[in-house]
Amino acid sequence: MTKRKILVTSALPYANGSIHLGHLVEYIQTDIWVRFQKMRGHEVHYVCADDTHGTPIMLRAEKEGITPEQLIARVWQEHYDDFKSFHVEFDNYGSTNSNETREYSQSIYLKLKNANLIEVRSIEQYYDPVKNMFLPDRFIKGECPKCAAKDQYGDNCEVCGAAYTPTDLKNPYSAVSGAKPELRSSDHYFFKLSADTCQQFLRGWTTGRLTKTPPLQQEAANKMQEWLGAEGENKLTDWDISRDAPYFGFEIPDAPGKYFYVWLDAPVGYMGSFRQLCDARQIDFDAFWKQDSDTELYHFIGKDILYFHALFWPAMLQHAGFRTPTKLFAHGFLTVNGEKMSKSRGTFITARSYMDHIKNAEYLRYYYSAKLNGSMEDIDLSLDDFVAKVNSDLIGKYINIASRSAGFISKQFDGVLASQDTIEANGTELMNSFISSSDLIAAAYEDRDYGKAVREIMRLADLANEYVNVQAPWVLAKQDGQEQRLHVVCTVSLNLFRLLTIYLKPILPKLASQVEAFLNIGPLSWTDTARPLLGHRINAYSHLATRLDPKLIEDMVAANRESLQPQAQSEQRHAAHQQHTANKEVAKSSKDFEPFIGIEDFTKIDLRVAKIINAELVEGAEKLLRLTLDIGEGKPRTVFAGIKSAYDPEKLKGRLTVMVANLTPRKMKFGLSEGMVLAASGETPGLFILSPDEGALPGMRVK
Ligand SMILES: [Zn+2]
Repeated sequence: MTKRKILVTSALPYANGSIHLGHLVEYIQTDIWVRFQKMRGHEVHYVCADDTHGTPIMLRAEKEGITPEQLIARVWQEHYDDFKSFHVEFDNYGSTNSNETREYSQSIYLKLKNANLIEVRSIEQYYDPVKNMFLPDRFIKGECPKCAAKDQYGDNCEVCGAAYTPTDLKNPYSAVSGAKPELRSSDHYFFKLSADTCQQFLRGWTTGRLTKTPPLQQEAANKMQEWLGAEGENKLTDWDISRDAPYFGFEIPDAPGKYFYVWLDAPVGYMGSFRQLCDARQIDFDAFWKQDSDTELYHFIGKDILYFHALFWPAMLQHAGFRTPTKLFAHGFLTVNGEKMSKSRGTFITARSYMDHIKNAEYLRYYYSAKLNGSMEDIDLSLDDFVAKVNSDLIGKYINIASRSAGFISKQFDGVLASQDTIEANGTELMNSFISSSDLIAAAYEDRDYGKAVREIMRLADLANEYVNVQAPWVLAKQDGQEQRLHVVCTVSLNLFRLLTIYLKPILPKLASQVEAFLNIGPLSWTDTARPLLGHRINAYSHLATRLDPKLIEDMVAANRESLQPQAQSEQRHAAHQQHTANKEVAKSSKDFEPFIGIEDFTKIDLRVAKIINAELVEGAEKLLRLTLDIGEGKPRTVFAGIKSAYDPEKLKGRLTVMVANLTPRKMKFGLSEGMVLAASGETPGLFILSPDEGALPGMRVK
């Protein structure tokens, strides 16, 4: 077999959130493929990095009162630890905010510019006059131009599904400051994807005409033809690759105040991360990236980012003098119990939460493998099926083989397996049939059809269990004169177990290393299938894995649901209050009294006399006033109250009112609201806040 040189990447996770079970499909899928190729003896390098740039990172850091660099360093560590706990083993895990990525981004840009593929154009865009920044589409909100739903994003409406541009929104406001945005023009840098050279190249590349093997899965190639349009149709438009300051990213070399759009430098992060690995291990970077390289380059990605990887990225590489990917491996999304992951159902599960509850990452690696077939289809994590499969396959079939045979070897044969000359025909035949499945299983791994590999491995496990059942070592052990036979049967069983371990090792690396320790052997590679383990001393068997308790799954789902409840409730309460104070319609229903409650329910509400020490308008809010309230604590509370229509803030200052002091604080667009002020309203217009009689002091309890 010729030794292949392979560079593998997984998509870069964004440094603005936690790794969850949906992300893990891809990292586990990639890691298994890489481990398999390494076991086959190939030179494989697996790199990834955190994707760190863009407006969301900048704003989140600002909100937390830290620098973007501090934020991305913290998230990097979280991501790194999460991947490690799932045995995802990168050769290098970097960050797009590195000198290496900066250098390659800039040099690619300059090469594109020299090739006349960069153009500067003035565009009009919404600008936040308070924050002094241009606003990305997701940071502009307003009323949907189609259905008039409020608080919709600048790109599409979550209520009616309409897609539009931010300038179509009615009453737009900045989601950052609440200010009314202004249209301003600014110079932007475009990568001319519409140029003939790009269109021609992409048409050839995506259909596989330019490469030895097609670079896309058939379903992905079809999608690309839709996006590219028919020959001569040239549907691709130029790609806006710049953003204006303030922006967290890399400044464009010859354009002060202009930054590379995050999606320009994200894939370049693959090169940056690999460069770090090359420097650390003396690997020839150019051998992997030069235009006529004979090495292989694979990007594992989700189907949602095909556009960037199958069009922008190869066009950039091609025109900057680099090689293009050998193949993109796109996968589908994860559903849980047949539905989108959901916070309210408790199925939006982070990597951390899974490890806290289930503790064993290999259960999930095994389950995902059984489901993955190398296509772009979505895969489903059915939680009941997950428990059933782990317990019946991994524990019931695989681990069982070792646990039923190992004890006899230690107790009766001093831990030494039978030697070659004593192995009988029956056992050898079975071992040979296991060995002959090697090619089929290897081909399935190569094609990322792990489901097929797992089915074959479990078919073999059934055969091994059948062998143990028929030979019944526990019966032989009690019979006189059957010692040699017992020795052979247990030796064959453990050899079958060892072969299954080789086949499962890419999926179950930790378990495989426990097995290697038990069998007293070095790391198993794929070629070890050909060499049976005979006349060899093994170690005493100790417990390899336990059954998965369904209770752990229940607890995990409950914890993920529970952790959300207080916030969801407070959102409802707050929304109800807003409606109550501002909406006449609701006032009508208040004539129908609420059901009776006991005094214990009433005393749960901590009502306090509050002094309004400040009241002010809230920029961008139609109905709200920001109140600063003294309720006798060290620090005054901030409460947003929907009373702007009824009160002049100046007249509220200094007066006393009543507030709910133990309402869960609610994060609003304008800040944290730490309570609720009581107000009365009825069928006639008007809104009336309460006040205590003279003599009441801030902080006194109302009961
Ligand atoms: Zn709408």
